[in-house]
Amino acid sequence: MPHSLQKYKITPYYRCLLDSLGPDHPLRRTVEEVEFCKPEPGELADPLGEEAHSPVPGLVHTYPDKVLLFATLDCAVYCRYCTRSRLVGSSNWKIPDEVFRYLEEHEEIRDVLISGGDPLTLTDGELAGMLSKLRKIDHIRTVRLGSKVPAVLPSRITPELAAILARHRVWLQLHFIHPAELTPEMTRACDTLAEAGVPMVSQTVLLKGINDAADTLAELFYGLLERRVKPYYLFQCDPVLGSSGFRTPVENGLQILRELQGRISGLAMPHFAIDAPGGGGKITLQPNTPICREGSEVVLTNYEGREYRYPDSSAASPYFLC
Ligand SMILES: *Cc1c(COP(=O)(O)O)cnc(C)c1O
Repeated sequence: MPHSLQKYKITPYYRCLLDSLGPDHPLRRTVEEVEFCKPEPGELADPLGEEAHSPVPGLVHTYPDKVLLFATLDCAVYCRYCTRSRLVGSSNWKIPDEVFRYLEEHEEIRDVLISGGDPLTLTDGELAGMLSKLRKIDHIRTVRLGSKVPAVLPSRITPELAAILARHRVWLQLHFIHPAELTPEMTRACDTLAEAGVPMVSQTVLLKGINDAADTLAELFYGLLERRVKPYYLFQCDPVLGSSGFRTPVENGLQILRELQGRISGLAMPHFAIDAPGGGGKITLQPNTPICREGSEVVLTNYEGREYRYPDSSAASPYFLC
């Protein structure tokens, strides 16, 4: 059965960017169907256990005071390593009213992260409507919105859109994976957002053969800082079905951290994190965190002291056994 990682979608802008980079550029592999990876042991359609932590459809409540909200299941581009490839591309999704009712009733919720899909594929009117509904709920302090649009469809970032985000005091969490994405068009999009007063952070997925080198990431992180985007997270790639070709061993991520820490601006350093398979939340690793490995799995402890396991493809090395 072909699974959703095989779905293909790209914007004309990103197509042109890839064409200008040449036929062998590794960025191509992130969106093109150049190979099909067979699902491997430990890989899941829903690696973060989001369905199990969903009190109402469209909302994931994993942590005590923050929630993830799916505003749309549409995306501008389908990434082949996407955590939510089980859902993206299902059109006609609308946030049900019960999501807003849940948010109103749960006064412990202070932070809402709007994701999807990509919420910036919604119209300005749809976004403004959703944001003003959220802003009417007094106990919600922070609204953030995750998007890859500035990387793949920068022309969507208009002054009108930036003004809507600024008016609702939205923090943007942008997805960038490679310094080749730092184009003049992307720079203009970041300038438009920064000049409107929209704070921006970035999230990068560590991808094998694509950006898993300290030099490549340093170039990306400095390039983002120059554009007023603070690198926030560097993620170990989630073990979604068929992701083995994109996942690099956890130890490589730590080695890269050791190469960057202290050698680049502290402001350019993101947190390196593994999103605990099964839904334990994000677990950050320091350059010298000892890795506890059992067979092909890395054993992690989350903020509640609970154990989670990440299926790491690298061969066990005696040095890293716990
Ligand atoms: C990532 C995530 C958040 C936000 O986590 P931060 O570490 O605060 O950025 C919230 N809820 C869910 C379910 C998440 O996956």
